[in-house]
Formats: sequence, structure tokens, C-alpha cells
Amino acid sequence: MRRPSFPPLIALTILLGTAPASVLATAPASAEPVVAREVAERLAAAIRFPTVSHQDPEQFDGAPFDALLDYLAETYPRTHALQVERVNRHSLLIEWPGSDASLPPALFMSHLDVVPVELAAAEGWTHPPFAGVIADGFVWGRGALDVKNGVILWLEAAERLLASGFTPQRSLFFAFGHDEEIGGEAGAAKIAARLKEKGLHFAFLVDEGGFISEDLGLVPGRRVAQINTAEKTYFTIQITARGEGGHSSTPPPHTAVGKLATAIHRLEANPLPLRLTRPVRDLLEALAPHVPTGRRLALGNLWLTAPFVIRSMAEDPFQAALLRTTTAVTMVEGGVKENVVPKHASATVNFRILPGETPDDVLDHVRRTIADPEIEISHTEWSAAPRPGRVTGLGYGVLQDAVEAVHPDVVVVPGMLMGATDTRHFADLVEDAYRFIGNSVTRAQVTGFHGTDERIGVDSMGDGVRVHEEILRRAGTP
Ligand SMILES: [Zn+2]
Repeated sequence: MRRPSFPPLIALTILLGTAPASVLATAPASAEPVVAREVAERLAAAIRFPTVSHQDPEQFDGAPFDALLDYLAETYPRTHALQVERVNRHSLLIEWPGSDASLPPALFMSHLDVVPVELAAAEGWTHPPFAGVIADGFVWGRGALDVKNGVILWLEAAERLLASGFTPQRSLFFAFGHDEEIGGEAGAAKIAARLKEKGLHFAFLVDEGGFISEDLGLVPGRRVAQINTAEKTYFTIQITARGEGGHSSTPPPHTAVGKLATAIHRLEANPLPLRLTRPVRDLLEALAPHVPTGRRLALGNLWLTAPFVIRSMAEDPFQAALLRTTTAVTMVEGGVKENVVPKHASATVNFRILPGETPDDVLDHVRRTIADPEIEISHTEWSAAPRPGRVTGLGYGVLQDAVEAVHPDVVVVPGMLMGATDTRHFADLVEDAYRFIGNSVTRAQVTGFHGTDERIGVDSMGDGVRVHEEILRRAGTP
């Protein structure tokens, strides 16, 4: 099938060579209208490359990644005529040099890999997860929301601006890792090392992890764009109980499983304290002018009302997770036979740590709470989330202005992401990190993240290109 590549305008400008700088610098955003259907088809094509990240590295298959990178190079020729590098073979780094080297560059990120679709789950999909079907106004498939849409939006926007003759003053970088879903060590971390080698430091970065919500109800009756200025730090521990093994007919008072159960109960019964951090305070204060009177007074006077607001938010599990480091006991193992007392049992506990708290704080809390020196505590590698981005930062202004330029009706607010992204690999390379993609997403679609029937609106992709074009143009023109 001949895939629609970019409008013939490209061929023309390549033939004519580049126009003089003075003309380019003031060139408006591409006059070409965005054809949402064509953008959707290019996303659908990208979805058909099953670039899956498996927990077991043995299962890694590089071929779909190579094919996807070839497809992107063919489909976005102007962008790939910039300084392009394949990092660690499967990740992509593109540099669009600006005309003013004194300006710190900006970095735009996404990732090429997707989470697996369990075979049993695949049957539950309306359209096969890797077929890249466009139907009922949606592009369906694994990666439509997380996050090949992001890859496509940045490349569409860059290609359009290049086609219009735009040259940034500030250098713009694009970084697409190939293993975000399994931690980013082979992708984003290698790209970060490359950028460090080049001695670069960025004014701001924009990665996945925020969108325009149609109906999530943050502001009744209004669409809300959430630019997440922070994310929690992902931290996992293992707790292990040991005990006398033996025959279950003569059991000890507490088996290893029993001791473990006590430890788990104590952790669940004693969550970490509630705390209103800067990013969440910024969110509530930004919401205040847009909510009904009662809430407006409460959210607009947090110096006075914070204890009351915290208490009412804590009643809802989702809002409570915005206010504390969460504890989730996710896996247990122990015991081999019903009539054998096991020698050990262990559990995996995943924490999502609030900005301003550290894994050491969590380990202290765990030791104090379990209060049993016999319970062994170990933990996996971790890397801290970047410090929260400032709502007064250059990048936040660029994002807010770009959204409002395309969607004047949308309410723009900051926020905090519960999940984790590749931004942590760039923590010491950037001033401010933001998480946002210019797509509109409904409550019904949110379950598609790592779930079934992942899909993105065709029109949302069209509008998304316009938002991302505005972001790049504003970032490039200080
Ligand atoms: Zn993702």
C-alpha cells in the first residue's frame, strides 16, 4: 500500500534550495491546512510496527523498531535532513540547529516502544491492536495514546514548519527512546548521555504525560489542558520474611507467610502522610477561578483552607494519590505446598514518591512501620524524577500560549503525573521539565492506556498537529 507521504511542497523547496535567512525567520506557520485524515493514516501506519517492550529482555525483537525508524525517515524527509542520529541503534535523536547559539536549546520527547497486549486480551479489542485500523473517527491500536501519537505530532509539526521555511532562533531537539516502558536504560538514558557528551543544557523539555481532557470534570463543562510540571518517583522494594520450615502439622506460632502478612497489613494500615506539594498547590490555585463559588473560595485561599481541602481530597483515592507517597503491595510469593511450612515469603511493594520526598524517607517509613527487625528490606535501582518545572518558566508559557492559540476555550492548568516517564533520565540536563501532548482525550479513552481498545480521535490528531506546530514555533522564536 502506498502510504501518503508529505505534500509535494517539499520537492519544490528542495529544488529551489533554502530561502535567505531574513525571509525564513519571519515565515508564518505553514499555510497548508492540516488534513487530519492524512495525519491519522500516518499514525496508523506507525502502529502497524509492533515495537513492543517486554519485561524479559530475551524477548526483545529489534526488527519492528528498525522498520519504524525507516518509515519515519521516509515519511518526514525534511526533518530527517536535519542532524539525525540513531542512538543505541533503536532510539532517535534529531537536532534542528537554531540561528542563535547563545539561547539554551529546548528538547521535545516521546517514545517508540509500546507495552505488550496479552494474547487473551487481544480478543477483547474492537480492532486488532497492531492492525492500525481507522474507524468510527478513531485510530485504533497499541501506541495510539501511549505514545506513538506524540512521535507523529512532533514530526508532523516540524515537517510543516520546515516546509514553510521557518528557521528557529533557539535550537530544537527531538528525542524518542525505544524502551520507556521498561525503564529507559537502553534508550532515553543513552540519549541523555549523548547530550551530556555534547555539553548541552536545556531551557526546558516537553515529554508525554498530559493532555486536553474533554470530560474528566476538573472544571465542570470545560475542556482542560493539564501541563504536568511534576511526576512522582517510581520506587520498588522487596520485603522478605524467613522462618522455620517444616511439616504443617506442627506449625510455629507465626510462619514466614504469617510474619509477611503482618508486615503487609502494617504498611497498608499506615499510609505515608498527606502533604500539599507545590505542583498540586499550583493546580488547585489555577483551577480556582474556573470552579463554582464555594470551591473557588476554598481553592483560592489555600493559606487558610489547605487543611480542609486536603481532608476532603483525601476521601477520593485518585485525589489522595496527589497528596501522598502511595504504597501499593503488588506481588507476593512464598510456599510450595499446602502441607509444608515455607522457609521464606516475600512481597513486592511499589511506591510513587511525592516531589520533595526520597526513597530514603520511604525506607525509614517502612522500617518504622513494619517494626520487625526480622523482616528483610531490599530495593531495586531507582532514579529520581526531575525537580518540578516552574509554572513561571519559559516552557510553561510556550505550552499555555500554544494551546490557547489553537483552543481559546480550553482552561490550561498545571498538575502532577502519577505515572513515570523518561524525563528522569534528563533531570540534570534541563531547567524545567513539562509533560504534555496536544491531543484531546475523553474519560472513555483513558482506560486504553496500557489497556484494551487504545485509540485516539482522528480530529484530535489534526488539532494536535496545530498545537505542536505552535509549540515549536514559539519555542524557536524567543
Ligand atoms: Zn508512555
